Amino acid sequence: MFESWSVTKSKGACARCGHEFPPNSVFFSCLQNQQGDFVRCDFCRDCWDEKEADSFFCFWRSRRAAPDQKQTANTDLMLDFFERLDRPDSERKRAFRFVLALYLTRRKEMKLLGVERGDGVESLLFERRSSGDKMLVENPDLTEEQIEETAAHLGRLLNADL
Ligand SMILES: [Zn+2]
Repeated sequence: MFESWSVTKSKGACARCGHEFPPNSVFFSCLQNQQGDFVRCDFCRDCWDEKEADSFFCFWRSRRAAPDQKQTANTDLMLDFFERLDRPDSERKRAFRFVLALYLTRRKEMKLLGVERGDGVESLLFERRSSGDKMLVENPDLTEEQIEETAAHLGRLLNADL
């Protein structure tokens, strides 16, 4: 296990050795499931140990953007995260899943097919364009503000501008 999680708050630095990631450098990001939410930690190449990957909810390889570049969102990562959230067990995760579905629809990875209602719950039916797979996403009934807040939180977790 990574013993240094909780002490690392700095951005753009390795959670284990503390070295800052230089522009264009490759590093590894992981999400840890924590009390209904997620915490991200980043590791430089030297400190990353693939064998420990299983202890995280998910991980991915990132490249630090050059200072004048936007950190672009990685659609595959969004899809992967969305699929891993197929049984959200907290409000936060339901909100993540919903906002990711909206985002992926905007990126034309998914298509909204319709709305289903049952037991007082409204769900949106989406189709994954590449595979034709269908999935129901519960509508958490968020306000505009909550959607924006959720997207910002997701962007920080996934290190991307959504
Ligand atoms: Zn390191």
